[in-house]
Amino acid sequence: MTGAWERPAPELASGPNPNVAGLGLEALRALVAALGESPFRAAQIHEGLYRHRWTRWEQFTSLSKALRARLQASTELRWPEIMESVGSEDGSTKHAFRLEDGSLVEGVHMPYGDRTTLCLSSQVGCAMGCTFCATGLMGIQRNLTAGEITGQVVTMLNAHGHAGNDPVNLVFMGMGEPLHNLDQVMAAFALLTDPKGLALSPRRITLSTSGLVSGIQRLGAYARRPRLALSLNATTDAYRDRIMPVNRVWNLAALAAALKAFPLEHGERITLEYVLLQGVTDSLEDGRRLAAFAQQFPSKVNLIPFNPHEGSGFEPPSEERIAELCGLLAAKGLTVSVRRSRGQDVAGACGQLARRHQD
Ligand code: SF4
Repeated sequence: MTGAWERPAPELASGPNPNVAGLGLEALRALVAALGESPFRAAQIHEGLYRHRWTRWEQFTSLSKALRARLQASTELRWPEIMESVGSEDGSTKHAFRLEDGSLVEGVHMPYGDRTTLCLSSQVGCAMGCTFCATGLMGIQRNLTAGEITGQVVTMLNAHGHAGNDPVNLVFMGMGEPLHNLDQVMAAFALLTDPKGLALSPRRITLSTSGLVSGIQRLGAYARRPRLALSLNATTDAYRDRIMPVNRVWNLAALAAALKAFPLEHGERITLEYVLLQGVTDSLEDGRRLAAFAQQFPSKVNLIPFNPHEGSGFEPPSEERIAELCGLLAAKGLTVSVRRSRGQDVAGACGQLARRHQD
């Protein structure tokens, strides 16, 4: 079943000059051909955009001064612009990006030891309406383009002064349901993992879905794709129906069937994210049902104690209960970890910073 969950590709009003930020090699070839330049110029521009992450035409010193001037006059080079950045005590920084049409999305830079994780948005707002999520309250405004998704990475890596070979993980866990915008997410994935460009490892990119089964099936058909995570958050249909409306279309049994059929590489596992809400999703009975769900396919479980935000009406679980649930899952042979929401002190949960600006 698809229908209401599918969205058309974004159609942005463009100015007189095309924006090259986010164009792939083919599109750049067409651009340089239109300027009467030889095709290898496209490869040079591609290298400047994605390997060097240059953001102004003056930096493209591999091109002649005359060509730089023509590009300056006939194109735009505009990545998403950081409108506000809020640092957290834990070292993470949440950025609000302003897009070309004035829309706002969020990205988060999270340094962990020698590895950095960037959390990306795939849509402005979200149609899925999960009741615990600030983005869900915004509704869907539009899909992001591949360039806007890639641009969050380029802009955050530049803003935080990363070298080209720094180890970076990407997670599609910001605003939006990435499987709701799969074409643009996969076009961004191709740009992000291109060995001649940003060269990020495909294995270090994770797409988190709310449970869009049609999208899970489409994703599984790609030969190269991100790793899959499921935002599960409930162990009964009765409760999941209430907090994640997508469950009324594809219930837990349909989800489990799709995950069992999802083609995994050797050693690959599907991550199950489970937000713990005190007195709501953190019972031992929940733990047993979670284990039974997770045992149906190669998986690992991420327990996420709730990150309270104003008006949510939910509380985080006790530390004792977190430990009990970890023990219960581990005893069933499951790999389990506890993920503390980063940026808790800076309106950290998905959608909260952008929503504050929108309000
Ligand atoms: S949790 Fe994710 S899928 Fe659900 S409303 Fe929020 S952004 Fe959308």
